[in-house]
Amino acid sequence: MSKPNIVILGGGYGGMITSKRLEKFLKSGEANITVINKHDYHYLTTQLHKIGAATATDRQIALSIPELINPEKTNFIKAEVDTVDTSKQEVCLVGGERVPYDYLVIALGFEVETFGIPGIKEHAFEIRSFRSSKAIYHHIMKQFNLYKQDQDLSRLTFVVAGGGFTGIEMVGELVDALPKLCKEHGVPFEKVKIVAVEAAPSVIPFFPKQSVEYTTQFFEKHNVELITSRKILECTPEEIRLENGAVIPTRTVVWSCGVKGNTIVKKFSLPIERGKVPVDSYLRVKNMKNIFSIGDNALFMKNEKSALPPTAQVALQQAPVCAKNIVAAIRGEALTQFEYHHKGSVASLGTWAAVGLVGSVRLSGLIGAFMKQVIEARYLFMLGGPALIIRQHLGVSHEPVKITVKQ
Ligand code: FAD
Ligand code: NAD
Repeated sequence: MSKPNIVILGGGYGGMITSKRLEKFLKSGEANITVINKHDYHYLTTQLHKIGAATATDRQIALSIPELINPEKTNFIKAEVDTVDTSKQEVCLVGGERVPYDYLVIALGFEVETFGIPGIKEHAFEIRSFRSSKAIYHHIMKQFNLYKQDQDLSRLTFVVAGGGFTGIEMVGELVDALPKLCKEHGVPFEKVKIVAVEAAPSVIPFFPKQSVEYTTQFFEKHNVELITSRKILECTPEEIRLENGAVIPTRTVVWSCGVKGNTIVKKFSLPIERGKVPVDSYLRVKNMKNIFSIGDNALFMKNEKSALPPTAQVALQQAPVCAKNIVAAIRGEALTQFEYHHKGSVASLGTWAAVGLVGSVRLSGLIGAFMKQVIEARYLFMLGGPALIIRQHLGVSHEPVKITVKQ
């Protein structure tokens, strides 16, 4: 009998950990594993804001996929998934190639939600992928150069839209990065303005009051102008327009007002609910025995009304169960139900501060920042053991990627 083909779509948090666990759980020769990802590097999505401000190096955030997998057990295909033909059990790649599967894992992540607000897609920047984040840094550099020619202050006004975790983390990186970048490029830092705009009455409104206060004070201390209770209604290359009619002249808007599931899954002729692929308690796509979906593109209902949030924490808990269930399905054994255990959340405010809630313990400042480092290191450990942590921290990893910047 031929070996079953397990094909994993997406080499992000969910996809990579599923492949690593399959490598571990499967007996030699029991199945073929294939990972398909757009790029030959795996980026640490939870640290992409650092790429936008150049507070981390490329090789710290983008890791070569061929170096992360065991080539004797896992086959890697660098390609963009176009669609899935469920009747023929084939993945169709952009370019026409088809990859047959017996078991499929859909882990294609998220897209940025723009709510159809005019000008956002065209003119704002997204923290979505390595490339889209790198584009922010290159744009800042371009504005610095242009400012030196025309002294237009809107070139030194940097707006971060959305005061959720992504937004406050991006502000934190800009606070860290801009003084140094200004010095390096001969731009007067005193003319730089960082503006954070949030539609709700405060930043991180879903977090404890003390964490909101800490973040607000952090913004004040670093002269970040915080505008709350105002929605952004429009973005042009030269300005943004707010709900009350206010206009902020700016050439740089980083849009971090929320995410949705990768819309590509709508092409797969699978059920779609709330823009995502609904899965059962075993992480199988509803009514499909051999297709699993995890992470940001999957809809896992934690109760009748609400779904699990799009977080790495969810994807990383789902991946081992998904791998385990595929192995069980191949062996004809019983599947395991997925249960989510929330461990807490920590959001960075630059390198030296963070706010967090772990269990019932509130963290802020340096202790929070330390905890954030521990969480990131734990992920590296899951992915590549102590060797990867050492490689990443000592910066001795091989040059991972040939990155061409594209928005
Ligand atoms: P991803 O990790 O996004 O991976 C999807 C993969 O699919 C990518 O490699 C992508 O290139 C690939 N792909 C997409 N389309 C195609 C295609 N058509 N063909 C081939 N490949 C494709 N969550 C936390 O729990 N804690 C945090 O601290 C945290 N911080 C965050 C910070 C930022 C700035 C952001 C943006 C998010 C953060 N999140 C955090 C959320 C977390 O990053 C996501 O929930 C997590 O990445 C989801 O994992 P995933 O595997 O579903 O998708
Ligand atoms: P989010 O939905 O959590 O926050 C978006 C914010 O943008 C909201 O506060 C919303 O009120 C605001 N907003 C929406 N429309 C607006 C408008 N027109 N004008 C002004 N403000 C507007 O989205 P996010 O911060 O991108 O996070 C996405 C997911 O990633 C979440 O699940 C989050 O928990 C996760 N994440 C986690 C971390 C962490 O744990 N450290 C970091 C980043 C992201």
